[in-house]
Amino acid sequence: MPDSRRSWIPTPPDHDFPIQNLPFGIFECAGRAARPGIRIGDVVVDLKELGLAGGDTLNRIAPEASAIRQRVSELLDENNADLRDNPAVRERVLIPAESVTMRLPFAIGDYVDFYSSLDHASNVGRMFRDPANPLLPNWRHLPVGYHGKSGTVVAGGRDIRRPKGQISHDNITPIYSPARRLDFELETGFFIQAPGRIFGMVLLNDWSARDIQRWEYQPLGPFLSKSFATSISPWVVTMEALEPFRVDPPPQDPPVVPHLAEARGFNYDIHLEVWLQPAGEREPVRVCRTNFQNMYWTMSQQLAHLMSNGATVRTGDLCGSGTISGPEPGSYGSMLELAWNGARPIRFPGGSERTFLEDGDTVIFKGWCERGHRVGFGDLRASILPA
Ligand code: CA
Repeated sequence: MPDSRRSWIPTPPDHDFPIQNLPFGIFECAGRAARPGIRIGDVVVDLKELGLAGGDTLNRIAPEASAIRQRVSELLDENNADLRDNPAVRERVLIPAESVTMRLPFAIGDYVDFYSSLDHASNVGRMFRDPANPLLPNWRHLPVGYHGKSGTVVAGGRDIRRPKGQISHDNITPIYSPARRLDFELETGFFIQAPGRIFGMVLLNDWSARDIQRWEYQPLGPFLSKSFATSISPWVVTMEALEPFRVDPPPQDPPVVPHLAEARGFNYDIHLEVWLQPAGEREPVRVCRTNFQNMYWTMSQQLAHLMSNGATVRTGDLCGSGTISGPEPGSYGSMLELAWNGARPIRFPGGSERTFLEDGDTVIFKGWCERGHRVGFGDLRASILPA
């Protein structure tokens, strides 16, 4: 059934943050220290000023978030006059989004990045291993992942400095140099609300230095090629807001082991795009269009796998989906795949070509659901600074 609720704060139909969304974030602005907020349209609802929540992270309020969001939803409903017709309170509680600075939504204890897109894993396997047999034997039996670095996760549009590291052209001798094969990875992330419970989702850019990765990753996997920065969109879209966009996951073949089997698993129909504006080009160009529902492993399977050895998870832990690619060339979620390891440069209207990211390039991720109403994540944008 379509959700036709409206707010007295109007939002155009293509806006990411209508009353059906109401994502949580942590913001600060002139005269106000970091605090929780809820976004609607182009304003931020100050939850501290409303007396609904305090603190400078969402960790402590996560258990009550559903009730808080419900209360804010009532206050913003077009038929509710409590806040609408009280200009003095409204003035204190609503802040223009353009005047706030977004902080990390959670104090992130642990950050794990998975590798759960069949198309992405197959592309990488085709490029670097065996085109006829691209997946390693474990891939269809567990959601492959590794522990990343939570300390360098940044919220929102912070620019990213090109990392330096060991790279080797002959795979025998290294040099220490700025990375030359800097890449984005289009991912989503989910935050843990409590053990076994997911709070909500963000867009996630797992910046990757492919040349550093190539030299360092054997035998233990990626390390400094990923740890220099991970960007997330600052507004956490709740699983409640995403509920109308739930879809069946793709069939898993062969059937997974019993502790990862789901009676009824679910994915989400989330449209995802990457836009790239090379330095010197006038406008960004869309280079990737894909969908989260392509993912082979579900978030609940990732979480079950994460806890299956007895390891604890804590509120605010962050899990990355892994690069999200679709089956067609225009749906690949990294430069590595889009330009096929340098073999097929991407051409732009102003004459630029790219195989990897150059200094001054701007990368923009977009993500949204749409079925009668729209629920989006807001743009995740960052430019590359020189090393
Ligand atoms: Ca990744």
